[in-house]
Amino acid sequence: MVNSTARVIRVAEHGDVSVLQPTTIPRPIPRPTEVLVKIAYAGVNYIDIYERSGNYPTPAPLIPGREGSGEVVEVGSEVQGFKIGDRVAFMSQNTYSDYAVVDTLHLVKLPDNVSLETGAALVLQGLTAVGLVRKGYTIQKGDWIVVHAAAGGVGLLLSQLGRLLGAHVIGTVSTEEKAALAHANGAEHVVLINNGYEALEKKVRELTNGEGVHAVFDSVGQATFESSLNVVRRLGTLVLFGSASGAIPPLNLVRLAGKNVKVTWATVYNYITTHEEFNELIGDTLEYLEKGQLKFAIHKVYPVEDVQQAHLDLEGRKTTGKLLLKIQ
Ligand code: NDP
Repeated sequence: MVNSTARVIRVAEHGDVSVLQPTTIPRPIPRPTEVLVKIAYAGVNYIDIYERSGNYPTPAPLIPGREGSGEVVEVGSEVQGFKIGDRVAFMSQNTYSDYAVVDTLHLVKLPDNVSLETGAALVLQGLTAVGLVRKGYTIQKGDWIVVHAAAGGVGLLLSQLGRLLGAHVIGTVSTEEKAALAHANGAEHVVLINNGYEALEKKVRELTNGEGVHAVFDSVGQATFESSLNVVRRLGTLVLFGSASGAIPPLNLVRLAGKNVKVTWATVYNYITTHEEFNELIGDTLEYLEKGQLKFAIHKVYPVEDVQQAHLDLEGRKTTGKLLLKIQ
């Protein structure tokens, strides 16, 4: 049964976790090119925190959430290839909700052996990680790479992919427990960064005979940026894709001339602007999963009523892997 209303988590004004409040709104109505999905699980991503707190320019009021999984319950008149009852995973907006309207551009049917939990866990972070190691910096066998926050949602996937592609992965993490997990997921070397990132610079010098790494995957931002520039080698690449510790201050580009370093800021959305691009990345992500080459570790499934705790845990650096909200 499709309800005429949807229970959602709404942010009336930007702020701390207390602004995440349940409410009920009219159910969204799909356009001809969209399907309506009854959401089972919504993924929690760091971008949800940026949007809730106002660090991103998304105006409030807003409903957070960029991905989910569930069942198709209505199909727009121009939609092809999807039908009512399909089990799907997707990226869209406002997914802390009973229902989402989803453009087929970012919608995939889940194979029978992939659970709805895994489906919600694999879309946004999986596509980000696979996109970054191919298009942010194309990892070559034998490369040295640094992955910051290596036990995080995207970090665990980057560590696995780095090892799969034959790179030597050096991960940074903040606790021993996270270090063990990052190591088990492909980080050959793990640096604890309790006292700042100088330990990383020392480790990279030792491991690479002072040359530095071919690429740094940096989602931490302000706290890591200087070290990331320091550890990248001549002609190396710094791939920025997040700022969990705060925004990076403006950079004088002439500084890059010291080592002819390439710097890019990548978002997953620019890797999946067409059906072909999305299908290629999601198809390969599902294939990695099927072959056991990529595992999506779920930290915890929170009842949607506990959404504040989920945000507290993620921004408090208490989590590893993926956080999910169980919607229904
Ligand atoms: P994570 O699970 O990686 O959580 C963030 C981690 O960052 C923490 O666990 C922590 O790991 C580390 N961290 C370091 N310094 C801080 C700090 N000051 N405050 C908080 N965390 C800190 O989150 P996600 O996997 O959801 O996202 C990881 C990053 O990737 C985010 O920056 C996110 O915005 C970005 N991202 C970007 C995308 C894009 O398209 N550009 C798409 C998806 C994610 P530790 O304690 O071990 O240091």
